[in-house]
Amino acid sequence: MPSIPPTATILGVKVHALTQAHTLALIEDFITNGQPHQLATVNPEFVVEAQHDAEFRRIINQAALALPDGIGLLMAARFLSTTPLPERVPGSDLVEQLAGLSHQKGYRIYFLGAREGVAEKAITNLKIRYPRLQVAGHYAGSPALEENEAIIRRILPTRPDILLVAYGAPKQDKWIARNLDQLQIPVCLGVGGSFDFIAGITKRAPQWVQHMHLEWLHRLIMQPWRWRRIWNAVPRFSWLIFWSRFKNSNTNLIVIY
Ligand code: UDP
Repeated sequence: MPSIPPTATILGVKVHALTQAHTLALIEDFITNGQPHQLATVNPEFVVEAQHDAEFRRIINQAALALPDGIGLLMAARFLSTTPLPERVPGSDLVEQLAGLSHQKGYRIYFLGAREGVAEKAITNLKIRYPRLQVAGHYAGSPALEENEAIIRRILPTRPDILLVAYGAPKQDKWIARNLDQLQIPVCLGVGGSFDFIAGITKRAPQWVQHMHLEWLHRLIMQPWRWRRIWNAVPRFSWLIFWSRFKNSNTNLIVIY
């Protein structure tokens, strides 16, 4: 049975030292075990947000797995000499890998969130690569409280093994935390804009740009209206990390803005 790895603590936020293979092994274990588990795909923007959103911070720190989605986290862990993070576990790659597992093992996946029609398109594309993908259902819905009960009633009878929630952070993670007990789904994972990537609506950076760790720059050029989020993910995060090491207070929260 695979064991849960240690965590790196980055500005008070815990991130598990996972590889992609280890993550998949644990997910299979969670499905066998049947208890509900919340997984979060943590990137530098999450860590910045968690500095002033205590609920979000608590949710990440209590998640069964907080996946290191973002090269900035790997660099920060090294710079702060906390537990080393061996590799990135990006949410959209994980969705592909889970579709592959579903194809092989028959796990049922529910696709919640993204704009109307996007999940269907993502499923169509995944089925080209994984024809035996088991889709428990899909629904755009909304993370608004008024819709909560109707969405639960829709998902429960479909009995998925894996629930992917694409409402963006922190809404998707709060949605999962609020509903985890009621849903009793073994694996509930917030996946951000992954359905948009898989549906081909948002283009991911070319491989060479990803290898140079410049995916954020590609995003800034393609989606300039996201500048504030990219500002948080890159310069603000870097500044907070430098400041944290300077103050030697890595495990403490620092609210300096
Ligand atoms: N989204 C949604 N309902 C909402 C807010 C967001 O379905 O109320 C979807 C949005 O369409 C997109 C995803 O949530 O598919 C989040 O995308 P974003 O690019 O913001 O997430 P990131 O990957 O940056 O976390």
